[in-house]
Amino acid sequence: MKPVIALVGRPNVGKSTLFNRLTRTRDAIVADFPGLTRDRQYGDGRLGDRPYTVVDTGGIGESEEGIDRPMTDQALQAVGEADVVLFLVDGRAGLTAADEQVASELRKLPKPVYLAVNKTDGLDPDTALADFYGLGLTELFPIAAAHGRGVRGMITEVLKAF
Ligand code: GDP
Ligand code: MG
Repeated sequence: MKPVIALVGRPNVGKSTLFNRLTRTRDAIVADFPGLTRDRQYGDGRLGDRPYTVVDTGGIGESEEGIDRPMTDQALQAVGEADVVLFLVDGRAGLTAADEQVASELRKLPKPVYLAVNKTDGLDPDTALADFYGLGLTELFPIAAAHGRGVRGMITEVLKAF
């Protein structure tokens, strides 16, 4: 089986950077300002002989969505289509209220959710993770999508379930 991996998280955490790394393309636009990837974007990748599909999303957790609606329709659709969800947070910014809202939605899902703590380049990985244990997700990975740190190990774990 070729699992579908959805990348979700608030703007600017590095979803498109991770998408590009996982698909070895530059198709997803990486921006210094939030909210640029407005629609879902699909790409294929493989780890060794294991193929997978990745879905990049934008717009999740933007303020106009409001506190009662932490995820946009297209992020919810991506999550609905996926076999596994990769929830990205920013290890430099630390935990935010939007992260907590998204996590509470994702915890209800009947599918695996992995937490990727991104931008840990130059940070102590254990310290970077400490902020996020309270989200109630059990699988946490310190990564740096821009440099590749931790990405291969995380995807190896994600693919083990399939
Ligand atoms: P998205 O909005 O979640 O898709 O985030 P992007 O992939 O567009 O990245 C937002 C910003 O974070 C860009 O300036 C990226 O270069 C930067 N970024 C992404 N990954 C990393 C990382 O691992 N380390 C650092 N330091 N910056 C990163
Ligand atoms: Mg993006």
